[in-house]
Amino acid sequence: MTVATTTPQPVLPAFIRNEPTKQLLIGGQWVASDEGRTFATPNPANGRTLAHLTHATSADVDRAVAAARAAFVGPWSKFTPFERQAVLLRLADVIDRNFDELCLIDTLDVGMPMARATNVRRRAVALLRYYAGLATSIHGQTMPNSIPGDVFAYTRREAVGVVGAIIPWNGPLGISISRVAPALATGCTVVLKPSELASLAPLRFGELALEAGVPEGVINVITGPGDVGAAMSAHPDIDKISFTGSTATGQAVIRASAGNVKRLALELGGKSPDIVFADADLDQAVPGAAMAAFQNSGQVCSAGTRLFVHRAIHDEFVARVAEFANGLRVGEPTLDTTQLGPLVSEGQLNRVQKYLHAGKDEGARLLAGGERLTTEAHREGYFVAPTVFADVRDDMTIAREEIFGPVLSILPFDDTDEVIRRANATPYGLGSGVWTRDVSKAHQVAAGLRAGTVWVNCYQLMDPSIPFGGFKMSGYGRESGVESLDDYLETKSVVVRL
Ligand code: NDP
Repeated sequence: MTVATTTPQPVLPAFIRNEPTKQLLIGGQWVASDEGRTFATPNPANGRTLAHLTHATSADVDRAVAAARAAFVGPWSKFTPFERQAVLLRLADVIDRNFDELCLIDTLDVGMPMARATNVRRRAVALLRYYAGLATSIHGQTMPNSIPGDVFAYTRREAVGVVGAIIPWNGPLGISISRVAPALATGCTVVLKPSELASLAPLRFGELALEAGVPEGVINVITGPGDVGAAMSAHPDIDKISFTGSTATGQAVIRASAGNVKRLALELGGKSPDIVFADADLDQAVPGAAMAAFQNSGQVCSAGTRLFVHRAIHDEFVARVAEFANGLRVGEPTLDTTQLGPLVSEGQLNRVQKYLHAGKDEGARLLAGGERLTTEAHREGYFVAPTVFADVRDDMTIAREEIFGPVLSILPFDDTDEVIRRANATPYGLGSGVWTRDVSKAHQVAAGLRAGTVWVNCYQLMDPSIPFGGFKMSGYGRESGVESLDDYLETKSVVVRL
């Protein structure tokens, strides 16, 4: 592993520098919480406080929901599909223009390397433009029917109402946009609650939305720890929760949402299998499979962390992946040359270190990394070396549990039916990968895998037109793609005796 050197800290964006204590964005205004409680949000590359955030109370949640409801039944409901489309296109332009700043905020706040954040740009802006397109294509149907007499029946697609979007810390800007864009396209309004670890870019996004002409109250951003999300999940005037986060919290959201039978879309955890057959193009598969696990320091829900490698190429492949991991540049995320930044927090660092110990204690063979980085360039931040374990068994902790750190477990296999069975032997079903030159095998394995996405000879390629979501305990509902609109719409049948 190569060390990316430290660099003088970049000048803080004006959004942080000028107003280091952030308020809540409710009804188009920056407002203080009724209790005035705040908490620090650190830069994970050096542990130093970046800004202070407001801890919203349940009264603040009520205020945000009321603002979203007022906008939903008021001005926003008068917007035609073309007008909503125009708003989304303007928002895309504003985000594009301000992207360098948004990117820097995310890099400082969560440690996402600038190099990766550039990919997020393409996707973030594309998502807004994609949903702008869909805003004008939402329509019901007429139904020929068999009711005696003349009866005309049709459906209307109506906005579900006030959407509570609760999101995690591993991609604050991109995930905010992926929740807000379909809501705006369908005519919903939003209360967005980012993770307490990653709220700065969502707050700035909310501010920029106002600049783009999104009416006040359509997007409200409130901050604070999990109790804020819990209050939203139980809130009687939120119609739908779009939740992205861990499976355990998703289950808590399901329970809390029962009070008013909220609509739910849940994007939860994963422990995704990635399968390399003996006929794969190894020059492509080695970096592809390694980065499937290490991208964003492994803090990716669909990371391909269970790497099944055919026994015929196992030893060569394992050695090449370990060499690749050792060559990754880990360090200061604002440097263009950095490939992997820190983990998001000290808590996440401790969690990942427990898994590193578990891997060693349970007998996996450590080939790269395996520890926190403590050189001068890393000492103050939450850096972990990209880690490769070989000889991993299916029953080991590191092969079963989601780690959310740069830890790759390699497991050998012998034949296709066996590897499909083992790949599916997990409660999760989010991502998966197949590396082979055999087209038939690729499609057969893709059909056999119980996962929301199968990437073949690539990993983590995403596009606004391609649905993304989980099978099994990885959740339900889809982000992106035309069908994602269904999650934000109700179907109303109108039956008319003529
Ligand atoms: P958490 O489930 O801890 O948190 C997700 C969000 O829920 C945060 O905003 C959190 O607030 C909030 N929250 C915490 N407790 C509650 C509660 N009781 N009720 C409602 N909301 C609550 O996940 P992480 O932030 O740790 O994110 C990592 C997880 O997210 C991983 O498991 C990962 O797989 C998953 N994920 C899934 C994705 C997908 O597309 N399927 C994409 C990205 C991540 P706070 O952080 O302030 O405590």
